[in-house]
Amino acid sequence: MDFFAYRDGVLHAEDVAIPAIAESVGTPVYVYSEATLRRHARVFREALAPVARTHFAFAVKSNPNLAVLRVLRDEGFGADVVSIGEARRALAAGMPAGDIVFSGVGKTDAEMAEAVEAGIGQFNLESEEEGIELARIAHERGLTATAALRVNPDVDAGTHDKISTGKADNKFGVPFYAAKEIFSRLAALDGMNLRGLAVHIGSQISNLDPSRAAFTKMGGLMRELREAGHTITHMDLGGGLGVPYKSGEELPTPADYGAMVADVTGDWDVTVMFEPGRVITGNSGILVSTVIRVKRGASNPFVVVDAAMNDLARPAMYDAWHDVVAVKPSGERTTANVVGPICESSDTFAKNREMDAVVTGDLVAFRTAGAYGATMANTYNSRPLVPEVLVSGDRYAVVANRIEPAAILAAEQVPDWLK
Ligand code: PLP
Repeated sequence: MDFFAYRDGVLHAEDVAIPAIAESVGTPVYVYSEATLRRHARVFREALAPVARTHFAFAVKSNPNLAVLRVLRDEGFGADVVSIGEARRALAAGMPAGDIVFSGVGKTDAEMAEAVEAGIGQFNLESEEEGIELARIAHERGLTATAALRVNPDVDAGTHDKISTGKADNKFGVPFYAAKEIFSRLAALDGMNLRGLAVHIGSQISNLDPSRAAFTKMGGLMRELREAGHTITHMDLGGGLGVPYKSGEELPTPADYGAMVADVTGDWDVTVMFEPGRVITGNSGILVSTVIRVKRGASNPFVVVDAAMNDLARPAMYDAWHDVVAVKPSGERTTANVVGPICESSDTFAKNREMDAVVTGDLVAFRTAGAYGATMANTYNSRPLVPEVLVSGDRYAVVANRIEPAAILAAEQVPDWLK
C-alpha cells in the first residue's frame, strides 16, 4: 500500500497535488512519499517480528537520497552499502557506523581502510583475498574488523539474469563448496573477527522457494562451522524481496517472507540480518514527466515525454515494466508507445501500452520508481541530472537539485595542447 492516490481526479502524493510540484520544480522529477517509506519500513520490520534477534540494513543502492536515508534512520534501520561513497551517505544521514554493513565485490584497500577507521559494523567478505587484505589493514591500525563471509549458494533466484547474484557463475561471494575452508583460514587471521555468513541471491524475487533453499543451505553450513568449533553469531540473509510493478500483480508479501524466514531460522540462535531495498523504496516513489508531444507512428502513436532512459534506466536495462498513468486522467484510453527524447530506440518506457489518453503538456507519472530510479540516473545526451522531492503530509521539499548540463560542462576542460 502506498500514499499516491487520486483526489478530485488529480494524482496526489499524500496531501500534495502532483501538478503543484511539477509547476514549482519542473519535470522530470522524482517524488517520494515519506509516509509510504515509513509504512514499508514498519511492515517489513513487523513481518520479521517472529525472529528473535534482527538487524535491518537498508540497501542504500536502491535509493541513496540523504533525506530518504534520514527517514529510514528514524525508523531504526542501518545501511547496507557497496562503496565508501554510500557509507559516507549513510553516516551523513546519521546512521551509526556500527549499524552499517559493507558489501560489494570490489572494495578497494582505501575504501576498507576508511571504513575500518570509521568503525563500520560488518564487512561482508566476497572473497578470501579481500578478507586477507581487510585483516591486514585492520591489524596494521591496531584494530579488528568485524566480518561475515558471503557465500554463493548456487541457487537460481528465478529473477532477471542481470539482477541474479546467487548462481555459481555470478561474481558474488565464495563458492559454497569452498566456504568452510575459507572461513577457517580467515577466522584465524589477526585483525579479523569473522562472526557469521552472508547470502544474497538476487533482486525482485517473486517466488520464495529459491530463497528458502538458499537459506536452508546456509543454515547447514552454519551448523558445520559450529561443529568445527567456530562461533557464529550473525547470519545476513540479504535483500531481494520483489514488489508489484503492474497494478493487480500478486507477489509474496513481507509477511509471507517473514513466515518463511522464521520457519527456516527458528533454531539458529543468531542475529538475523536483512538488507531490503526495493521493498522499502520501490512503491514509495514516482517519476513525474510532461508530455512533449504525441507523434503519429506506423501503428500506435508515440507519446514523447520529457523523462528519458537517463532518468529511469530500468526499462532500457531490464525491459522492466512501470505503470504509466495520467496525473489528471480525462477518462479516455489509448494504446501507445511511451518514449523519451534520447537518440536510442532503447529509450522506450512502454510499447503498445493500453493507457490513459494524453496530449501535449499533460503530466504523466511512472509508478513504482522509488527504487533503482534516481540512483541510476545519468546525464546522457547532456541532459540534466533529475531532481528529487520528498512529500510529507501537505509539505514537500526538493531533496536533490536538478544538476544542469552547464554545471557538468564547467567540470570539464580543454587541455593546453588543444587551446
Ligand atoms: N544486498 C545486496 C548485497 C545486494 O546486492 C542488493 C541488490 O541487489 C540488495 C541487498 C538489495 O536488494 P533489493 O533492493 O532487491 O532488496
